[in-house]
Amino acid sequence: MKLLEDRIRRDGECRPGDVLKVDSFLNHQIDVALLCELGKELERLYHGAGVTKILTVEASGIGIACIAAQYFGVPVVFAKKSKTSNIADDVYAAKVDSYTHGVTNTVIVSKQYLHPEDRVLIVDDFLAKGQALLGLSEIIRQAGAEIVGAGIAIEKAYQGGGDLLREQGVRVESLARIASMDPETGIQFI
Ligand code: 5GP
Repeated sequence: MKLLEDRIRRDGECRPGDVLKVDSFLNHQIDVALLCELGKELERLYHGAGVTKILTVEASGIGIACIAAQYFGVPVVFAKKSKTSNIADDVYAAKVDSYTHGVTNTVIVSKQYLHPEDRVLIVDDFLAKGQALLGLSEIIRQAGAEIVGAGIAIEKAYQGGGDLLREQGVRVESLARIASMDPETGIQFI
């Protein structure tokens, strides 16, 4: 999506460790008008797919998920990072290795908010190695619900997570796909 690619080129910063910092419009300060355009585009891509719920993970996915949800007219459920490893039996739980923080979190979703009849779209800000998406897919599987697909703002395609999910048969739509990224040579899109 040209609008997002242009914004990444203008305001994105490549940081060591293959981290793209987009704090000025997506991850800290939020450009709501931009996110509305991303949300509309996700709805266009998944129009008619029968999405009943959007699932994301706290914290950075919540903004884009909520804005996209307005165009789908469905609720957002966000997986919470649990501090305790004692998992109650009223939640679905999965382990997620955090790309940016280098820790493993258990993420949980109350059984109240995902049901077998749900058709779930996963929405997140970034897709890197795919750990967040795999964890959320696992939670949807535990609920017996259907994964309609994933809608991602920025996929760092060279890190393999998108391909891993696509190989598993998950539809993954990313609005900007980065082919390579380097502080010296800049950002190339697919
Ligand atoms: P994955 O689980 O696919 O390896 O990484 C996805 C998660 O890590 C996203 O939810 C996002 O919060 C974070 N993430 C991965 N790469 C980046 C990045 O380059 N920049 C930022 N800001 N977050 C990232």
